Amino acid sequence: MRVDRYAVAVSQIYLERLQRVRAAMTERGVDTLLLSVGHDLPYLTGYLAMPLERLTMLVVPRDGDATLVIPRLEAPRVAEQPGVFDLLPWNETDDPTAVVAKLASGARTLAIGDQMWARFLVELLPQLPRATYTRAVDVVGPLRMVKDQAEIDALTAASAAVDRIAAELQAGQIRLVGRTEAEVSSDLSERILAEGHQKVNFAIVAAGENAASPHHHAGSRVITENEIVLCDFGGTMNGYCSDITRCVFTGEVAADVAEAYEVLQRAQAASVSSAAIGTPCQDIDSAARNVIAEAGFGEYFVHRTGHGIGLEEHEDPYIVQGNASPLEAGHAFSVEPGIYLPGKWGMRLEDIVVATESGPLSLNNVDHGLPVVA
Ligand code: ZN
Ligand code: ZN
Ligand code: ZN
Repeated sequence: MRVDRYAVAVSQIYLERLQRVRAAMTERGVDTLLLSVGHDLPYLTGYLAMPLERLTMLVVPRDGDATLVIPRLEAPRVAEQPGVFDLLPWNETDDPTAVVAKLASGARTLAIGDQMWARFLVELLPQLPRATYTRAVDVVGPLRMVKDQAEIDALTAASAAVDRIAAELQAGQIRLVGRTEAEVSSDLSERILAEGHQKVNFAIVAAGENAASPHHHAGSRVITENEIVLCDFGGTMNGYCSDITRCVFTGEVAADVAEAYEVLQRAQAASVSSAAIGTPCQDIDSAARNVIAEAGFGEYFVHRTGHGIGLEEHEDPYIVQGNASPLEAGHAFSVEPGIYLPGKWGMRLEDIVVATESGPLSLNNVDHGLPVVA
């Protein structure tokens, strides 16, 4: 038999993650972990389940082999990881919930993935009447937050790709005036794929007063001269996400916009440089919020400063008031303060940052200013 060195190395990553998960299960008194659709599953197996009605479930007992219960027709999609999990395909006429219940029958405490469909859990509950249930995020979340080098490399590559697109935007190579927001959004989406992402996750384009709505849906509004255009876009490249926001101005920048943008840029930089290991996440939020508040725009910064990023666009840790947990080396997150004046304009500036032993490392490095474009 030919030994595939690469496959062994990959299996080793998942094996080590499973070991850490089992240690966390022991710490939290969890007997069995059940993961279905969502991103805890690919984190532990490399397999992203199809989000459809047929049940896929990874059953991880604290002591014992993990089993991936999967529809037989989807089994060929799984890259088997020797020693990590056993594959247990079920046939169209089987009852997959009964298969899972049997595997989990000895468990008193079950941890359930956040994104498991309610349907599967509702069907499982009566089959395991004596079990108690808790959230798998308490077991897997703290591990997923701390990115290893391979994950940081993947995030770096995805960030560099959207940096290149932002540079094109800033250089005026993406035409804005005369096009609708939706047209520019699909232009950005094409570039996201052309730059090496497999999937576009979003491409927000918001012009003028529309930019005052942080999650504006790009629509039929035509972009005109002399207004701000906010672009917030990202995709998934080799499993890991990118996310960047840059604004440009279609004409000489209006004085009130220039004044606010200077504040925003200072706030974002202050937040990034505050992100040293050990800093409570909420203090990274305060660093941006204080600058914006001192300039008199406090009430117009209506959202948290950032979110963790990795296999998912939004995951732990959240950079928000109330999150006092200290930043650890390997945490990856966005720093994206904004200022939104309803009916007038809005602006946001966003980079992905990784906490490292030698300080905050920004993965997005394209210019942070507000360039004038045609
Ligand atoms: Zn957002
Ligand atoms: Zn974003
Ligand atoms: Zn973001």
